[in-house]
Amino acid sequence: MQAADPDLDNEAAIESGRWLFEQTCTFVIGAVKMDDLPGTDMTEIAFAGRSNVGKSSLINALTNHKDLARTSNTPGRTQQVNFFELGGRMMIADLPGYGYARAPRETVRQWTDLVGDYLQGRPQLRRACLLIDARHGIKETDREVMTMLDKAAVSFQAVLTKCDKIKAAELEKRFKSVNDELATHVAAHPYLIATSSARGTGLETLRAALAALAPSR
Ligand code: GDP
Repeated sequence: MQAADPDLDNEAAIESGRWLFEQTCTFVIGAVKMDDLPGTDMTEIAFAGRSNVGKSSLINALTNHKDLARTSNTPGRTQQVNFFELGGRMMIADLPGYGYARAPRETVRQWTDLVGDYLQGRPQLRRACLLIDARHGIKETDREVMTMLDKAAVSFQAVLTKCDKIKAAELEKRFKSVNDELATHVAAHPYLIATSSARGTGLETLRAALAALAPSR
């Protein structure tokens, strides 16, 4: 099921992913508006997902940190994009979580404005990782974000999270249904990656996929 991508299914790709994510990763800035975005042309990747999807856990697991990324999805809190620099080779943008059921309308509007501007106006953004909770599959708010990504022509990599929480047969079914829906989105990268931050599953594949976008060593 995992990583049918032939470009990643080799030791060199895995090794370059491992190497990149062993580099020092440091917090740069929490941007609340376009003017705050770091002025760099470094290759950038973004992480997006519904609140509680496991985004902070995944960023921490990928970068071998305990609490680099923290959940900041409390409704009403300022929406910000947190930037992390990885070894001077890649910028990681952690987008604010969305889809919180009780979020005030103003918070939703702030999210859409900030993320919309960011997706449209960041040429160095090479890929967005769109995280989907393996237990719940694709929700309506995820569809809205996929449509934003399609329209902004930002190529996105869908990633299933918390795969340890469901049985293998259920995961198999979920993987297929998510994959089928991804096929309807022009900006979707064709290979879905199933992960568990808790168990470390899929991390090597995702690291390899992202390292393939960074400048070579
Ligand atoms: P965020 O709001 O998207 O940043 O989500 P968090 O990373 O804070 O995770 C939300 C909750 O899901 C926390 O209680 C995590 O411990 C839990 N969680 C995250 N990833 C995993 C995973 O891979 N497996 C399991 N079992 N729990 C996870």
